[in-house]
Amino acid sequence: MESHSRYIRVVLFFCLLFGLNQAFAQKYPQDYFRYPMDSLPNFVSPFGVMRDNHFHSGIDLRTNGKIGLPVYASADGYVSRIKVARGAYGKALYIEHANGYATVYAHLDSYYGAIAQWIHEYQYINQTFEFDKIFMKPFLIVKKGDTIGLSGNSGTSSGPHLHFEIRDSRTEKILNPALFGILPVDNFAPEINKIYVYKFVREGLLLKKQLAFTNKTASWQNGFLQLKDTLLLDPDTYGFGIDAQDFIHNNKDPKGLYSYSFWLNQSHKFTHTLNQFAFDETKYINAHIDFPYYKLEKLRVQKCFVDDGNRFSTYQTDADKGRVNFTQASSNGELIFEAADVNQNKTYVKILYKIGLNQMDAERQTYENLIANKPMLFPGKASVVEQDGFWASMDEKSLYDTTCYVLNTFPKTADAFSNTYAFHSYTTPVHAAFNVAIKLDFPAIGLEDKLVLAYAKTNKDGFNSISGTFKNGWVQTKANNFGLFKIMLDTIAPQVKWLLPKKGKEAADTLRWEFEISDDFSGIKSYDMFLNGRWILGDFDAKNDRLTYVFDEVYAIERERIYNLENNPSEANAFKVLVRVTDNKGNKTERWFEMIP
Ligand SMILES: [Zn+2]
Repeated sequence: MESHSRYIRVVLFFCLLFGLNQAFAQKYPQDYFRYPMDSLPNFVSPFGVMRDNHFHSGIDLRTNGKIGLPVYASADGYVSRIKVARGAYGKALYIEHANGYATVYAHLDSYYGAIAQWIHEYQYINQTFEFDKIFMKPFLIVKKGDTIGLSGNSGTSSGPHLHFEIRDSRTEKILNPALFGILPVDNFAPEINKIYVYKFVREGLLLKKQLAFTNKTASWQNGFLQLKDTLLLDPDTYGFGIDAQDFIHNNKDPKGLYSYSFWLNQSHKFTHTLNQFAFDETKYINAHIDFPYYKLEKLRVQKCFVDDGNRFSTYQTDADKGRVNFTQASSNGELIFEAADVNQNKTYVKILYKIGLNQMDAERQTYENLIANKPMLFPGKASVVEQDGFWASMDEKSLYDTTCYVLNTFPKTADAFSNTYAFHSYTTPVHAAFNVAIKLDFPAIGLEDKLVLAYAKTNKDGFNSISGTFKNGWVQTKANNFGLFKIMLDTIAPQVKWLLPKKGKEAADTLRWEFEISDDFSGIKSYDMFLNGRWILGDFDAKNDRLTYVFDEVYAIERERIYNLENNPSEANAFKVLVRVTDNKGNKTERWFEMIP
């Protein structure tokens, strides 16, 4: 499989038939946006890479493991939004441009110049590190190439990089920056590893075959990697899935795929292309892939058909939404799959098939028997599930497919205030969250406001708080997954640990104070730091449990004041720092620290 990624295979017939991408690109200005860093385009993660519950909404630009590289405004415009968060995009900046597009810069280490000054003042006036401010009119104006910040690793980021997006300001859709000419040189074609063959059953899919394309099983013929064996199929309705990946900078580091297509006997059935999508549809990834297979095997197989509950806008299909109904026994034909990258490098695989005689599918029969007597939930329909102390209210958008569910009750565990309920399986995807409530069946007098619903994937996993409110004997919240639920209690306050400067070291050695703050269950709601009674800016990095105060003007003023007191031995010659952290159930920790000036 290594060898064919080195070749660019282009089949003219399909290029003419499906050269839509280039035509699409012409709608967008090609020189308007510049690459927002000094380096040549180098992507850690391209647009649309598949992640848990979403497609990657931008491109991740390589900073070679470094923090603090200058980030430039991609074009003239004004700052339209500043969002600072402990997680997600961390320190993010949005710029509105005159041509109807906005650019987004995320996971910054810091902001720069007048923007940085404005933010610092805003945080002190409002006494908050985290905020989300939208500017409707030009106020902080930038020119193309102005430094707006320094690259970092803030928010939910797994290593230093710059996350960059281009959005359509009117539709708020996220666009593939490649449409605007922001893309690296890439001569590596994608690779198709496997084609998956599915039958449709009442709930979900029956995986019938996995067809691997290797040097043993397939050979190159006229630009197609063709499977040597003929695929034998029943007269039945089938769907196909693809396991493919792309390579950009080398053939060792696989990336997500830009586009893939499927043809049946040269007639187009299905194409998925990542040119643009909206934030409110990105969770359709869970219907786009074979979700149960991913949960069990950790591999995302992309479907070449569209589920009824899947409203993702990136597909072009025939009337059957990519499904194929093979009817006539002993007929035959060919299936062709294409994987393409944004630079139009393409790979094709071909499978010859033959339809066998009509026969009973024993596997299907077993499956149908297994779910025959189970109650059902349907996509597009709101419904309520209720059973001895458990209640769930499904939104009409909760499910992609008919779901034959199970609901089992297990006895109360020692740490719980209710039975444990196993509501169906975590391998079935949930789109819109559903309401879930459990009846309290153990006294918690005076502690009602500390009750939460706890969730676990399976009985081998630990329970985590999914919050909840107590009302009329029940604890209710919203759930994003099927699995195990029970009522638990959170009375434990967050922890605060002093990290920097190391004890005995002077503050001037580090130019910052650093603490570890954490909460074991319901999570940190708020945090504040005070220096000799004055609020100071604590930068909270949730992924590292890190709360940091970088010395600023408040420190300078306090130090000045203390130095002026040196002739007065009655005053304590120290910085008194208070760290206050509260969790989501109102449990509070306050700790005082004495710092050497
Ligand atoms: Zn990113």
